[in-house]
Amino acid sequence: IIEVKDLKKDFYVGEITVRALKGINLEIKQGEFVAIMGTSGSGKSTMLNILGCLDKPTSGAYLLDGISMGELSNNELAALRNHKLGFVFQSYNLLSRTSALENVELPLFYNSKIKPKERRERAEAALESVGLSDRIHHMPNQLSGGQQQRVAIARSLVNDPVVILADEATGNLDTRTSYEIMALFQDLNSKGKTIVFVTHEPDIAKFMTRQVVFRDGHIIREEIVSKQNNAIELLNALPLEELY
Ligand code: ATP
Ligand code: MG
Repeated sequence: IIEVKDLKKDFYVGEITVRALKGINLEIKQGEFVAIMGTSGSGKSTMLNILGCLDKPTSGAYLLDGISMGELSNNELAALRNHKLGFVFQSYNLLSRTSALENVELPLFYNSKIKPKERRERAEAALESVGLSDRIHHMPNQLSGGQQQRVAIARSLVNDPVVILADEATGNLDTRTSYEIMALFQDLNSKGKTIVFVTHEPDIAKFMTRQVVFRDGHIIREEIVSKQNNAIELLNALPLEELY
């Protein structure tokens, strides 16, 4: 579903050129749950932003769902983003002045075929799927961090994307809440959703089906996870006194 060939990304800051990606080759198949790992500054977010059509590569090819990104205009990229992709970020990136429900409805405004009634029903269903039916009219600052991240996951799902891209989605959360969020992602993946998940935490990467490790703009290691950790099992095993 994702095919990347000899992809490079340079950033120019004043006189300095930063080579953030130095020739990446990566293939991701439908139904995979891929961890992008690596130390700080290794190029993980740069890679995810390009996969998410939020940024363009300096050179190289990127095919998403059979479409070559290189030839698209900025408008076409934006349309593709809204129809094919879902995003979850470390800092949730919710609009602070709109309710959980309105935040989740947002991606659907870009599709003029979807009427207000359907928009609302789909947003309610997405919030229900992350267990937040009783919080739909809450504002982001009236929700806990884990709840805000669940709103963000509902938002990433509502347009039924072909791929969900997550950047350190558990980075701000405690262990239990992280496992709860991973349980949601594992459930989505078990239903066939393709997920690319950036994390620098090896324990979190164990929930996924494959690990791809970046260092200094290169992929240095790739590994299929033969036995994934199960988030629900780990949650049930978590002793209450070891929460913090
Ligand atoms: P972290 O784990 O700290 O989030 P990362 O692996 O996500 O790290 P990137 O954000 O992809 O790292 O950055 C890779 C390199 O590219 C870094 O050296 C960074 O300084 C540089 N870089 C990233 N974005 C930009 C930008 N917009 N302008 C200039 N340099 C950038
Ligand atoms: Mg990053």
